[in-house]
Amino acid sequence: MIVKSLLVSFDDFRKVKKLVVEKEKFLFVYDRELIKSANLYFSFEANKYDNVVNIVGKIFGTMSFECSRCLKFFEQEVNVPFEYSFTKEEFECDVANEMRETMIINIPMKPLCSKDCKGLCSICGNDKNEKDCFCERKMKDKFVAEKWSKIGKFKV
Ligand SMILES: [Zn+2]
Ligand SMILES: [Zn+2]
Repeated sequence: MIVKSLLVSFDDFRKVKKLVVEKEKFLFVYDRELIKSANLYFSFEANKYDNVVNIVGKIFGTMSFECSRCLKFFEQEVNVPFEYSFTKEEFECDVANEMRETMIINIPMKPLCSKDCKGLCSICGNDKNEKDCFCERKMKDKFVAEKWSKIGKFKV
């Protein structure tokens, strides 16, 4: 079952004090370019107290991102706990919607395949994690050589 909206309300607790969702597929709708796919599930327990319903659970699975430095795809495990509650006056809560917001807060703005990903060479586009192309160093050496050759000419 793919859940698009999931209302938990005080009506659900007419006969029970607790609702349990073991493992359901979570359809995560996202608009961020760096996310390539998401294979997510959720589980939660909702408990009713006098005037409050408390929902405790987690979102888990895997997501595929594009590294913001080297542009390679990588998969990352997701395990995001959550806790929501609503009062009798609020009456209901769309758990699917809350989970979406929880995920948006927890997604990295700039995903990285590894903490020390070296990224791509700004000159030739080589992946510096695989080999060093020395472009940036050569460029710097050239710049220094030119600078000194110009100054040298003034001296002549
Ligand atoms: Zn990377
Ligand atoms: Zn290069």
